[in-house]
Amino acid sequence: MKIIELKDIRKTYSMGKAAVAALQGVSLTISPGEFVAIMGPSGSGKSTLLHILGFLDRPDSGEYILSGKNITKLTNDQLALLRNSLMGFVFQQFHLLPRITALENAELPLIYAGKRHLKAKAMDKIKDVGLAARAGHRPNELSGGEQQRIAIARALVNDPLVIFADEPTGNLDTKSQTEIMAIISGLNKKDKTVVMVTHEEEVAGYARRIIRMRDGKIISDDKNKDVRQEPAAVAPDISIDKIISGSREEIKRAELADHFRQAFWAIVSHKMRAILSMLGILIGVAAVIAMLALGAGARESIQKQLASLGSNLLMVRAGSQQLHGVSLGAGVVTRFTFQDVDAIEKIHGVKIVSPTVNGGAQLVYGNKNWNTQVQGTGVNYAQMHAAAPTIGRFFKEEEVRMRARVAVVGTTVIKQLFGDADPLDAYIRMSRITFKVIGILPPKGATGWRDQDDVVVIPVTTAMYRLTGKQYIDSIDVEVSDISSMDEVQKAIKELLIKRHHLTKENEDSFEIRNMADIQQALQATTKTMAWLLGSIAAISLLVGGIGIMNIMLVSVTERTREIGLRKAIGARESDIMIQFLIEAVTLTFAGGAAGVVFGAGIALLLSLFAGWTIKISIFSILLATIFSIAVGLIFGLWPAHQAAKLDPIEALRYE
Ligand code: ADP
Repeated sequence: MKIIELKDIRKTYSMGKAAVAALQGVSLTISPGEFVAIMGPSGSGKSTLLHILGFLDRPDSGEYILSGKNITKLTNDQLALLRNSLMGFVFQQFHLLPRITALENAELPLIYAGKRHLKAKAMDKIKDVGLAARAGHRPNELSGGEQQRIAIARALVNDPLVIFADEPTGNLDTKSQTEIMAIISGLNKKDKTVVMVTHEEEVAGYARRIIRMRDGKIISDDKNKDVRQEPAAVAPDISIDKIISGSREEIKRAELADHFRQAFWAIVSHKMRAILSMLGILIGVAAVIAMLALGAGARESIQKQLASLGSNLLMVRAGSQQLHGVSLGAGVVTRFTFQDVDAIEKIHGVKIVSPTVNGGAQLVYGNKNWNTQVQGTGVNYAQMHAAAPTIGRFFKEEEVRMRARVAVVGTTVIKQLFGDADPLDAYIRMSRITFKVIGILPPKGATGWRDQDDVVVIPVTTAMYRLTGKQYIDSIDVEVSDISSMDEVQKAIKELLIKRHHLTKENEDSFEIRNMADIQQALQATTKTMAWLLGSIAAISLLVGGIGIMNIMLVSVTERTREIGLRKAIGARESDIMIQFLIEAVTLTFAGGAAGVVFGAGIALLLSLFAGWTIKISIFSILLATIFSIAVGLIFGLWPAHQAAKLDPIEALRYE
């Protein structure tokens, strides 16, 4: 009766050009209940043999028959399942995970077996090794002997078929050695099969059978005469096929919870590092949230304002100011005069007309200064732009004719110049000319980028002849009496202006007429440009943030190489390791994203509070930012997670 049968196992390592034959045709059987010690000088192949016995490593040739089934050709994941349920490992360096308690260390194999609910078993095993009082301690609070006892409890938690011990007392003092060997031989007395590698005769003395190796071959295989040989135990009833086809559904769920916990601890134990690596994501997401909020706010208030303007307005402007303000005209600019204004007013279907001249000026009142935008307009401006003052009055036709020095002032300007003083009938100086304040414009609010109340409106004639020295009108606003005749009127104005200015076909675009639909369109185009801009900022910062995350994850994988080796040894499959690291990366980016949302919303709120900007934080933008930050974690965590998953368990365990 045998549980393990090796047939002519060979393993060669190539080190550079030289090939080291670590095992040269090893054949061996192990029966249930045996306690085998593998001995031999250093380099004789003991560890290699133990790793192959525990299928942590694969032979180059030969056959491995486990409980009657040839397992030489199984996949890595199938072997991981077998390791998890049939094998328990005890290593010279203990390999306990440092950040979790002794009890949690002992529970680890249960996670990969989907038996998290059997947690009480881990405590039982810790009691068996006599450490119940220390179960809540971290490994660094335990002595070497105690750590090894916890490692033995971990090896036992899944009730393995065979315990593999690789120099289990190699790092321990004599007293601990005696304790550990007592535990191991005690296990064997309870019919547990044990295979142990050691180079110490004293330790090997506990075994019932001693195999000696030299140069990759078995040179002797004897019963230990000093130990009483009892009859072999009954063969345990195991089905390899059932184990390797085991359902993993339940396992997944138990594992996920554990991975999240692990990710949380990994982040918490490297707070500074985690925060720094999250920063890229945080800034990217914050920028996007803030700018989307401002953009949406601006759009909303512009639209509100457009709606208040009425949809029956036409705007005639000099030059071919294209949608984005880039003049495409060939240098010819039509200059409008008051005769043009009069002529347009006479067109059938036109209700009222108002000329406009734009400029800027330095305003002075008392000892206060303010630089603002000046609009010279006709009297109809108030009606067309819903700008009739609620305090004071607008200027009259008479005042326009007289080039009167009167001003209707926006609320921002009032605030800056007068503070709490009464502005009405006060005299202000504008570019050294004295103006009388006759009215206050109704407040319109900011459009996000531009404060519409930061303006002074004066008669167009005053603006041209006294203030700016302009000879011509910049633009003419036309209100059409009936919205259905918009197109007709627009066409009529165009023909009129072409005729009046003797324009040829080529320079017909030296002026343009825009209606509300055009402006809406222009607005949409601007919004689109802004969206692209935001998109690129987001993409770049998320990319940079993602690379930061990838970098830190690669560091994390390197740091935890031995942990990965240990996890693989106790039965984690490649996908388990992969998921573990992906979850860690996603936790990082998600946390960064969440912080970014809060931060971005905070910035937007501050801007609205202190700068008076209109903002609108949408659920959509928050959702988008969250999805993106998770996606960044997945994408940039993939490579480090893959690196971790494909580590060779033996090499990982040996990593210094
Ligand atoms: P022991 O455990 O008896 O000291 P090992 O099984 O560790 O021996 O090693 C047997 C031989 O194989 C040694 O010569 C060792 O240098 C070589 N060897 C073991 N592992 C590797 C490896 N990963 N790469 C190259 N050579 C190795």
